[in-house]
Amino acid sequence: MLDGINVKDIVKVERTSVHSHITGLGLNHRLEAEYVAGGMVGQVAARQAAGLIVKMIQEGKIAGRALLVTGEPGAGKTALAIAISKELGVDTPFVSIVASEIYSTEINKTEALTQAFRRALGLQIKEETEVLEGEVISLEIDRPSSGLGPKVGKLTMRTTDMETIYDLGSKMVDACIKERVVPGDVIQVDKASGRVTRLGRSFNRSHDYDAMGPKVKLVQCPDGEIQKRRETVHTVCLHDIDVINSRTQGYVALFSGDTGEIKAEVREQINKKVLEWREEGKAKFVPGVLFIDEAHMLDIECFSFLNRAIEQELSPLIIMATNRLIEKVRGTDVESAHGIPSDFLDRMLIINATPYTKEDTTKILSIRCDEEGVKLEPSALDLLVKLQAATSLRYCIHLIAASEVIRVRDKSATVTTDHVGRAYRLFYDTKRSEKMLTETEGYMQ
Ligand code: ATP
Repeated sequence: MLDGINVKDIVKVERTSVHSHITGLGLNHRLEAEYVAGGMVGQVAARQAAGLIVKMIQEGKIAGRALLVTGEPGAGKTALAIAISKELGVDTPFVSIVASEIYSTEINKTEALTQAFRRALGLQIKEETEVLEGEVISLEIDRPSSGLGPKVGKLTMRTTDMETIYDLGSKMVDACIKERVVPGDVIQVDKASGRVTRLGRSFNRSHDYDAMGPKVKLVQCPDGEIQKRRETVHTVCLHDIDVINSRTQGYVALFSGDTGEIKAEVREQINKKVLEWREEGKAKFVPGVLFIDEAHMLDIECFSFLNRAIEQELSPLIIMATNRLIEKVRGTDVESAHGIPSDFLDRMLIINATPYTKEDTTKILSIRCDEEGVKLEPSALDLLVKLQAATSLRYCIHLIAASEVIRVRDKSATVTTDHVGRAYRLFYDTKRSEKMLTETEGYMQ
């Protein structure tokens, strides 16, 4: 407890986001969906179809194809895409964009799409690092007389190989101070990262021990393995490699986000290198997922670009979502299903997220309450379910958090219908907001 605040609560709040209750597709080993599993509720057919997609990705059979999730607003299209990425695992990059984001004055739309595309391509690079293990002989720390300012120092450790004495620089000394290492301790030092791990004390040693001085000389060292080689795996995305290689100060651009346009030659060279590393077994290529919401906002040029891009060897899985039915393809006068050109649609596997039943909505809302740690009275949950029919699922999910704030202010043990009602009156849903605008249109002009 920190002054009455439970640390667990803080951690919980930090990781709660709109889809954080979703941990996977909730399928059994036969790829059948249970009604409620993995944080997902209902949508059984869509989840099973998504399970087959995951299998195809894992078996490398998805190249040149894309996935389209259709359905009404709030039907769980994004939720399904997130569940797919969770099934693929934490090491699989998942990049989510809304199609309208790519239209900016700073970079052209196909460049913006390429950058998103390459952020969804991961590269796992294995690096062998040297790990030293042994007994600390001396740890010298000099501080400026003021006691402030940078510390300088030297760590001398002897491994079990009596001949080998390592003097390691100040970086390690800082790490030793943090780990409260004192002479006589046995430590492990990762030379690449500077990480120091305290393994314990050394026994059976004979030494000259100067208790007062900063230096302790030890003669005998512990048995055991001295040097170990460890494989550290770094995962980077191709976009970050592009940025770093495209300018002298590339890494600064990575933090500022001001990446600008990247030359095609830079990307070609990087692709060549990546394929080489893969051949040599130095790196593993991890195709991720690029999720494009509101896909009907992409125009004909974007679709031609994607048509070519998904054929390439280095391509992520493209998942698109839309709630549109028949619509003009942007940049043309041609009408097509979902506003997507028919040749691109032909490449797509289509999953339909069907509208929710009352039972589904009740279950999703109670899962969200658990996720957010909110205790709702059964009547308050019933009210939320009724409101969902007139508003939207996402709006009702927002009402949970708002009602909880009102409950805390009221010092009540649980969220009641009154709290939900007050939150509903304070925050407009889209329909009421539209109605209010239409009614007040005359006054606003
Ligand atoms: P839009 O068309 O407006 O983009 P959407 O179809 O992408 O909406 P989501 O954002 O996925 O809808 O769903 C709204 C909320 O409901 C999210 O918090 C989502 O996690 C949750 N949700 C939707 N479907 C399910 C489900 N089947 N199981 C659990 N939670 C769900």
